[in-house]
Amino acid sequence: MTPVEIIKLEKDIVVIGGGSAGAAAAIGAARRRHSVVLVEETNCLGGTATAGNVAQWYASMDGMGDIFNRIVESMKHFGGTIEHPYNPYNPEYLKIVWQLLAEEAGVDILFHTTLQDVVVENSVVKSVRLVSCSRTIDVSGKFFIDASGEGDLGFLAGAEFMQGDPLKKRILHMSLVFFLSDTGKLQTPYLPSGFEPINSDQELPGLHVHAKWFDGRIYCNMTKVIDHDPTDPFVLSRAEMEARRQMIRIVHYLQRKYHPTYTICSSGARIGIREGRRIVGDYILKKEDILNERVFDSDDGICVATSQIDLHSLTQPGHGGWRKKVLPYAIPFRCIIAKGFRNLLMAGKCISVDQVVHSSCRMIPTCCGMGQAAGTAVALGLESGVGDIRAVSIEKLRNQLRHDGMELDPKKHLPYCGEESDIPDEEKGLK
Ligand SMILES: Cc1cc2nc3c(=O)[nH]c(=O)nc-3n(C[C@H](O)[C@H](O)[C@H](O)COP(=O)(O)OP(=O)(O)OC[C@H]3O[C@@H](n4cnc5c(N)ncnc54)[C@H](O)[C@@H]3O)c2cc1C
Repeated sequence: MTPVEIIKLEKDIVVIGGGSAGAAAAIGAARRRHSVVLVEETNCLGGTATAGNVAQWYASMDGMGDIFNRIVESMKHFGGTIEHPYNPYNPEYLKIVWQLLAEEAGVDILFHTTLQDVVVENSVVKSVRLVSCSRTIDVSGKFFIDASGEGDLGFLAGAEFMQGDPLKKRILHMSLVFFLSDTGKLQTPYLPSGFEPINSDQELPGLHVHAKWFDGRIYCNMTKVIDHDPTDPFVLSRAEMEARRQMIRIVHYLQRKYHPTYTICSSGARIGIREGRRIVGDYILKKEDILNERVFDSDDGICVATSQIDLHSLTQPGHGGWRKKVLPYAIPFRCIIAKGFRNLLMAGKCISVDQVVHSSCRMIPTCCGMGQAAGTAVALGLESGVGDIRAVSIEKLRNQLRHDGMELDPKKHLPYCGEESDIPDEEKGLK
C-alpha cells in the first residue's frame, strides 16, 4: 500500500487557535504582507466568543486596537450588537465578521485542523505537525504564536506552564452557554428519567444569569462544571456531557419558573473553557502587581487590561466568587514571550500571568488586543530580520501599536467592573 503523502507548507508565521487572540494576531501580521497560516480546530473564527456562544464583551471597549474597533463597527452594520453598558452581541454575526477581516488581510485559514506535534531545535520552534481530514500537514515557519487558549503549542514544544491556583491547583470551571428563544406557545417541560429536577434558584449549578438579550432571545450562562481539567481528553469529554445534562435540567426549571414559552435555540459548539495552561514567559504578571489601587504600567506594555478580577468560586456551585475592581494595568511584552524560546509567543488566555490576573485579563477585548500586539511584534521581527523576538525594538513596537489604535497608557483607560463580591472562606488562601 502506498503511504499517504504528508502535505508540506512553508509560512512566515504560524498561529495556533483562531479565537479572539489568534484571529487578531493572524490579521495583525498578514495585513503587513507576511504569509500567515491560522490553524483552528472548529469551523469558524472567534473561539469561545463565537463557537463557545459567549455573547458579551466584558471590558472597556476603547483603545484596544484597530482590529477590535473594526470588529465592533462591522458588528453594528449587521445589527449584531448595540450600545449598552454590558456590550452584548450576537456570536453568529461575529463568526462572519472575523472571517471577512481575516480574508481581507490575506490570512490562510485552516479549519477543522488540530495541532499534533511540534519540532524544536536549540530553543527555536521549527515546524508544527497538524492533522485535518485524516491528513498530516507539516508547516515550517519563522515565528509561532500559541493562541490555542489552553497553551497546546507551548505544552507540545516543552515550555514550562502553570495551571490552577497555587495551593491546590484548582482551575476555574467550564460552562456550556446557551440561548433560549420564544416560541410564543406554552412549552411542556420534560426531563428524561434519572435527571434530577431543579426546584429553586439555590439549586442551580452555576450563575443565575438568564438575561433578555437585545435580539429578544435569552442568554443563559448558568452551567458550572467544577474540578474538570480541560487539557485532559477524557475529562474534557466528561465535562461536555455533564454540562449538557445540566443545561437540560436548567431549561426544565426555567420553563417552569421563569420562561414558560421559551425553548433552547442554541448552545456552544464546544464547552466554554475559562482556564487551561498558562505558559511561563519572560515575566509572570502577578496579583501583587495589579491589586491595592496602584496602576501597574510597564515600559514594555503592549496592551491594557481593564476588567475586574473575576475569579468565580473554584469549589462552590452557584457562587460568583471573587469580583473586585482593579485599576487598568499594562500587559508587558515579556508576558507573551515563552521563556527559553526565541520565536514562540502566546496571546489570549494562555499568557504568562498568575490565576488572579488571568481571571481579569482573559476577557475578549483584552485577548483581541494581545493578539494584535503579538501579530504586530512578529511582523516587525520579520521586517527587521531578527531571529529572537526579544531583539524587536520595544519602542518601534509600541509606536506601531499606538498608530494602530492601541491606547498603551493604563491611566487613559476606564476600569470595567460590575457588582463586587468577596472570595469564599475556604478559598481565602488565594489572596
Ligand atoms: C462561559 C464563559 C463565559 C465568558 N464570559 C465572558 C464575557 O461575558 N465577556 C468576555 O469578554 N469574556 C468572557 N469570557 C472569557 C473569554 O470568552 C475568553 O477568555 C476569550 O474568548 C479567550 O480568547 P482566546 O482567543 O484566548 O481563546 P479561545 O477563544 O478559547 O480560542 C482558542 C481557539 O483555539 C482553538 N484551538 C484550541 N486548541 C487547538 C489546537 N490544538 N489546534 C487547533 N486549534 C485549537 C479553539 O478551537 C479556539 O477556537 C467567558 C469565558 C467563558 C468560558
